[in-house]
Amino acid sequence: QNTVDWLTHRADVSPEATALIEAEDGGKWTYSDLDSAVEETAGRLAELGLRAGDHLGILMETRMASIRLVHAAMRLGCVLVPLNVRLAEPELRRQVGHTDLSALVCEAETESTACEISGDVPVASVDASTDATLGECERAEFTAKRWSHDDPQVMLFTSGTTGNPKAVVLTMGNLFASATASAFRLGVLPDDRWHLCLSTYHMGGLAPLLRSTLYGTTVVVQTGTGFDPEATLENVRRYGATGISLVPTMLRRMLDAGTISDSLRFVLLGGAPARDELIRECEKRGVPVCPTYGMTETASQIATARPEEAFSSLGTVGRPLVFTDVTVLDEDGNPTEPGIAGELVVSGPTVMAGYYGNPEATNAAFGDYGLHTGDVGYRDEGGRIWVLNRRSDRIVTGGENVHPGEVVAVLRDHPAIREVAVVGVEDDEWGERIGALVVPVDGETEAMSLESVREFCEGRLAGYKHPRLLETAVELPRTTSGTIDREAVREQLR
Ligand code: ATP
Ligand code: MG
Repeated sequence: QNTVDWLTHRADVSPEATALIEAEDGGKWTYSDLDSAVEETAGRLAELGLRAGDHLGILMETRMASIRLVHAAMRLGCVLVPLNVRLAEPELRRQVGHTDLSALVCEAETESTACEISGDVPVASVDASTDATLGECERAEFTAKRWSHDDPQVMLFTSGTTGNPKAVVLTMGNLFASATASAFRLGVLPDDRWHLCLSTYHMGGLAPLLRSTLYGTTVVVQTGTGFDPEATLENVRRYGATGISLVPTMLRRMLDAGTISDSLRFVLLGGAPARDELIRECEKRGVPVCPTYGMTETASQIATARPEEAFSSLGTVGRPLVFTDVTVLDEDGNPTEPGIAGELVVSGPTVMAGYYGNPEATNAAFGDYGLHTGDVGYRDEGGRIWVLNRRSDRIVTGGENVHPGEVVAVLRDHPAIREVAVVGVEDDEWGERIGALVVPVDGETEAMSLESVREFCEGRLAGYKHPRLLETAVELPRTTSGTIDREAVREQLR
């Protein structure tokens, strides 16, 4: 095996290039500096008894010290298990209990939680302020890991939107494919500067960090919990960032807070559906936005649109990345024609090895055409992907399946509707009835009636897909992550 960890490669190729900048104080690390720091950290992990193949848990916010640990785990060959510092103790205890950790590394802020949740797992604390990773502990000799394509490299939990978070095992091959395919789509170059403000315990933060190491891109690290739109605007400008990943709520808050620096070549926007309004505003304000669709199970991006596509066909997430295939399956498991919605099924080199310690869930997730995403969408004639909603949001009315996204797509064109959410509401006769919660265009509240909406749907949607319940609201209820709170919508329609 001849594959070394990516930082070793980078420190060989461009030792003097800037690897990391700490946004707060402008502190710079070259790839050579980072390489030496990581060598030291890896020696300390080895002194703690960690060996290749061991699972290393990290309960830390994203900052220099945690980035050192990410690379040190790769150097030693440990499987990195980043834990979300925002989770509650019972959730974290479940994750630690499920992942067979050999050690759990924390920092001052997370130490008491780490000790609460660790069970039998040894806890080691890092002094993040001085970067003295693992305190005063000695360094042991170790042999750097030589990687094979199928070696597990990280285990990352899904967000838990549809149930308990699942531990996704991603191999070196998955992460390499993800990094190279996304760089290929975005055109990432060594002189790019990536502004990192998503945490590395989600794929949205970890993927760009790893990709940057592979390509020698500088990463500007904005640390700290909570998102600060003003600070982000300021840092993007100050450090001349050329790329950034954001979820829609973050971008919304940045647009509200000021002008986004024109140094950016693109804003990668994903994790949740982006509202048309947001994309339109970006176009108006000259912010280049690339909507992307991805999931933990595919080491982030499945499909990514370029700004031209995003602006010309609102709602698309673009074409699948190179070597990724997306098949759309109907209810009977047969591939559909372009334009026909069904479950999105993904295959290709970024698709996970499986869920850790959960063969039932792994078997349920894979079918003949690959990984079942649980998302409903379609492919258009141009090969672009459209994501409508999650499969679990599907409505069954009078025995017919209706995807709320199809109904929303039609109602959105209604001149008096500014925003709309469509859900199924329990019904004795029909199983579920289609309900629409509508935010009318200013001053159009009076004009908004069930009859007028049903009339509008005539000729645009099959009759059984027309809404049978309608309410108006000043705004749609949303969850903290900015997605529509479907249960609250249902409550308003009941
Ligand atoms: P769990 O799998 O535990 O229920 P989760 O699916 O929310 O949680 P993630 O892997 O973080 O966990 O999120 C992936 C999901 O996010 C996708 O399956 C999809 O439903 C949603 N998503 C991501 N990007 C987009 C997008 N551009 N448009 C619509 N939905 C998106
Ligand atoms: Mg999921």
